[in-house]
Amino acid sequence: MAPRSKQLCIWLAISALVALIAIPLWGPMRIAWHCYQLHENAAREQAEVVEKLPNETFALRVIDGPHVGEVCTADTSVAIYDATEIGESLEVVYVAWKPGECELSSTVEASGWIIWFMVAVIGSILAGLIALGVTLSRSFTLPVNPKRRMRADPAEIRCHVCGEAMEEGYLPLVSAIQWREIGEPIGLPHALKGLAGTVGWRGRPRLHAFRCSACEVVSFQYGKPSDDRPGQR
Ligand SMILES: [Zn+2]
Repeated sequence: MAPRSKQLCIWLAISALVALIAIPLWGPMRIAWHCYQLHENAAREQAEVVEKLPNETFALRVIDGPHVGEVCTADTSVAIYDATEIGESLEVVYVAWKPGECELSSTVEASGWIIWFMVAVIGSILAGLIALGVTLSRSFTLPVNPKRRMRADPAEIRCHVCGEAMEEGYLPLVSAIQWREIGEPIGLPHALKGLAGTVGWRGRPRLHAFRCSACEVVSFQYGKPSDDRPGQR
């Protein structure tokens, strides 16, 4: 597949994932934000608890504010319901478009925090997807070379099996390369321990290599790029 087609596939897949997350959430989040804004921008008034109704609901009478004298009901949390006595004064938002209903200021504040938290989580997921798209897209188009090269003339490198010229390239590693002598126990090979310079703590190691595709033989050099040893440049 051509790099451009791969890029197109990557961005189509990323766009589909973004749409899969964003489209179903857009409606509910917009309504939640709209409700929060309506409550947030409404006048704050003081109301007295006149009755504790079932299901964590208060009956309140507004005692100070534009709706003084009016009675409304408000839902709350179990903790606030249990801690509040009849006759106590609470700050409420009286919602003109829902006569007889009000929201406790504490509920409005909590809803605001939940909405901002949701926006942050969804935003982070979408940003992560876009970052993944950029990384994948670059990995298919950005020309890359090995970090260092063997001190050898590529034209003179010969396959030690058939003696033919070898193709120059590099090995991008996804895991450390393990080395054992013949007969040595295998132990517990894992990705974070192996030959020097093949463990990818930061980024993916790239080893300068020569390949004979007829014999399926690869010759490569390992070691840390900072090591000043003969046989490398
Ligand atoms: Zn060969």
